[in-house]
Amino acid sequence: MEVTERNRAGQSSSDASIADGVSDKVKERSIDQRLALLGDPKCVICGRYGEYICDETDDDICSLECKQILLRKVANSRSSTRLPATDQCYYVRDADDGPDSLSLTCDQASLLRKKLDIFVKGDFVPPPILSFSSCSLPQKLLQNMEAAGYEMPTAVQMQAIPAAMTGKSLLVSSDTGTGKTASFLVPIISQCACIGLGNPDCKKPWAIVLEPTRELCIQVEDQAKVLGKGLPFKTALVVGGDPLAGQVYRIQQGVELIVGTPGRLIDLLTKHDIELDEVKVFVLDEVDCMLQKGFRDQVMQIFAALSQPQLLMYSATISSDVEKMASSMTKSITVISVGKPSTPTKAVKQILIWVETKNKKQKLFDILTSKQHFTPPAVIYVSSRLGADLLSNAITVTTGIKALSIHGEKPMKERRDIMRSFLMGECPVIVSTGLLDRGVNLLSVKQVIMFDMPNSVREYVHQIGRASRLGEEGQAISFVNEESKNLFPELVELLRSCGAAIPRELQNSRYAIRSAFSGKGKRKRRHGL
Ligand code: AMP
Repeated sequence: MEVTERNRAGQSSSDASIADGVSDKVKERSIDQRLALLGDPKCVICGRYGEYICDETDDDICSLECKQILLRKVANSRSSTRLPATDQCYYVRDADDGPDSLSLTCDQASLLRKKLDIFVKGDFVPPPILSFSSCSLPQKLLQNMEAAGYEMPTAVQMQAIPAAMTGKSLLVSSDTGTGKTASFLVPIISQCACIGLGNPDCKKPWAIVLEPTRELCIQVEDQAKVLGKGLPFKTALVVGGDPLAGQVYRIQQGVELIVGTPGRLIDLLTKHDIELDEVKVFVLDEVDCMLQKGFRDQVMQIFAALSQPQLLMYSATISSDVEKMASSMTKSITVISVGKPSTPTKAVKQILIWVETKNKKQKLFDILTSKQHFTPPAVIYVSSRLGADLLSNAITVTTGIKALSIHGEKPMKERRDIMRSFLMGECPVIVSTGLLDRGVNLLSVKQVIMFDMPNSVREYVHQIGRASRLGEEGQAISFVNEESKNLFPELVELLRSCGAAIPRELQNSRYAIRSAFSGKGKRKRRHGL
């Protein structure tokens, strides 16, 4: 073995218990390694958990990939030559490298994209960046990113940040939890900071981010504040549930970024005459949802009030319909997709259990009271608000485990308090409707339980994605029965493609079987009608 496994005798008890759960296989890539917890040794290259010690240099490292980079760096510093941007070297975090010092040739860019599963479509797409410092970001922004633990760009950031900084309109798809939010916030903050420094009197909003839910807005605004700290960059949250007057006042005082939901932003436009003529960047997060019927008209109304801004559209899953609609909104669009769209992150272990509806509650209690199977913090998804309230009560009463429900009928303050107590570890279980399914950042979630299956496989992918952020391992248990038979054909296909076990009843179900044998023929006939 080329690296020494950390000596357990020298570890704290929490280290030891983590090490117990780690397989003997040496981690190949940085992305396979978990993030460092408080007090953990950190990889000197990427900052993840330094599970190993490099024999040659005695440094903490997380994987063979980072070991190679480390040795390369040592060799280069010895021979005083510059680090070559070869295919092996993806991650470089030298803040003192100049902006263009690590730009890639066309061949290197294609090779890197291939290795990271980055697919691009469009004219003159810039090469991926290897480090944040290689694309002329303000120093203060780089410091904020470092303080937030962003040591190196994730795959989507490597490609989307330089592309967005050229002013191109983008349609980006990448798994949930892969750093999409920062990939649009970083270019926005960078440009606002440059403009703000040059023109301190400009008080009109410069960018808008639209999100489908209040929770997502809060999360994105929080991240924007962290990244924009100390820069001429102010934000306004424009969501229902908080008084409109306060939001209007804040915008009138001068903000660079508005983060909001479509409905409330329209209220603002129609009732308060807020001027959006300086808006240069319009972000549609969760664009597949934003361009669906419920939101589409509102989104288009807001878009029509702007003067042809740069469009940045993001989602974990992007269908050809969405691609068509997105393309119709702008003259030219660059499509970036990272990983295989519609495929759940590999870090989530999918377990499907066939459970009849009348037995679901008991099955859930069995899981929650089993030391082996319950891995909190957990989110349980149900299909209705009432169901969420009833089930969270039943869990607390029957199992003694504190469970709270969260859904759109609860006032915003209560929802914030619930989220806070979940994130602080005071409440190990949240029962939620689809409210929490889209991108909401539940970094600590280890387990997702789909008590009720959602209405589409796309939603299923979003929801199980909550169990893994930035590639950390998680588990998704789903209760299936004939009530979700509409999903079976696509679900079976998805499970096969991920190598997940398929329950016998699901495999044998006539709904799944029919699709496997006659799907194509049926589609053809329907076309003819
Ligand atoms: P997102 O996919 O945008 O919801 O991001 C998931 C989580 O990853 C958030 O907590 C971000 O703060 C964090 N994150 C984003 N980019 C990076 C990065 N380059 N390095 C470390 N953490 C990151």
